Amino acid sequence: ASGSDLIRATLFPGDGIGPEIAESVKQVFKAADVPIEWEEHYVGQEVDPRTQSFLTWESLESVRRNKVGLKGPMATPIGKGHRSLNLTLRKELNLYANVRPCYSLPGYKTRYDDVNLITIRENTEGEYSGLEHQVVRGVVESLKIITRQASLRVAEYAFHYAKTHGRDRVSAIHKANIMQKTDGLFLKCCREVAEKYPEIKYEEVVIDNCCMMLVKNPALFDVLVMPNLYGDIISDLCAGLIGGLGLTPSCNIGEGGIALAEAVHGSAPDIAGKNLANPTALTLSAVTMLRHLELHDKADRIQNAILNTIAEGKYRTADLGGSSSTTDFTKAIIDHL
Ligand code: NAD
Repeated sequence: ASGSDLIRATLFPGDGIGPEIAESVKQVFKAADVPIEWEEHYVGQEVDPRTQSFLTWESLESVRRNKVGLKGPMATPIGKGHRSLNLTLRKELNLYANVRPCYSLPGYKTRYDDVNLITIRENTEGEYSGLEHQVVRGVVESLKIITRQASLRVAEYAFHYAKTHGRDRVSAIHKANIMQKTDGLFLKCCREVAEKYPEIKYEEVVIDNCCMMLVKNPALFDVLVMPNLYGDIISDLCAGLIGGLGLTPSCNIGEGGIALAEAVHGSAPDIAGKNLANPTALTLSAVTMLRHLELHDKADRIQNAILNTIAEGKYRTADLGGSSSTTDFTKAIIDHL
């Protein structure tokens, strides 16, 4: 591709194993001739007063300008007087939906062979609104906020996703039998949006029943949409169904069409700098970014190369029971392109 055809994307390599696995992504993208030019940004050494965070204003501007980005894991420094990195990103970029495709990896055996579902989590409110206080000594209160605006927005995204990705069902996950007002409003919004998509089947499943159904037969589900806390738990449960956090990609969708992809795992300080990390989750996250950009050919090519490398079983990192280094595994993916 010539310079003018290149799409600019922001890259946060992140901390710990972040730079090693980000390097893998860059190499795979280069080998697959993906027309992306990375704009790299690092977490700052001091708090930027404009963001009240170690993330600089310039790096956030980069995502706002490019509208697409990839984020490695970030270790939030402990201390007072600044906001957590992930919270800063979520708030500043208004990342309202967290999308996690979760599918069985052929050749990597888990209890289930036929997982193929998408979890879509509302990412801005619910129990995560940060409104907690002590009423009197020994009694505390936490406010769960559900708004019509945020519920409609995430429901709209879920149905739009189902429609554009050839999926035929959306399940809203809730506990409206107990949380009648909050989850009740969430469901009402989902129903309203469902009416606009008559071609997509819509159902409502109570969260506890949903957990039981997921571990008994994950193939029962297609697209799941839910409030923040349920999404946090269910999405990790689903990651467990396919082999763990080292394999699970995710993408955050923000206001104005922003897509910030990220692996769901952390910075793995225990193996950082040792060339042991599995770059699969971050690379598959980068694939979700390509799909957001509708570069489906490149996305398929890279996804297949990763799946074939894992299925072949010759090169696997330690977390998948192998003994390959990050660089050898990356080279094997490139050979499979
Ligand atoms: P972690 O995900 O970093 O590590 C948990 C275990 O999984 C470790 O044994 C680690 O070696 C292993 N692991 C994780 N990713 C792996 C990979 N790609 N390949 C091979 N093994 C992998 O979780 P943690 O130890 O709880 O957190 C460490 C740091 O990461 C903390 O500072 C935390 O705040 C941060 N964190 C950041 C994010 C994020 O940026 N989204 C998410 C979770 C944790």
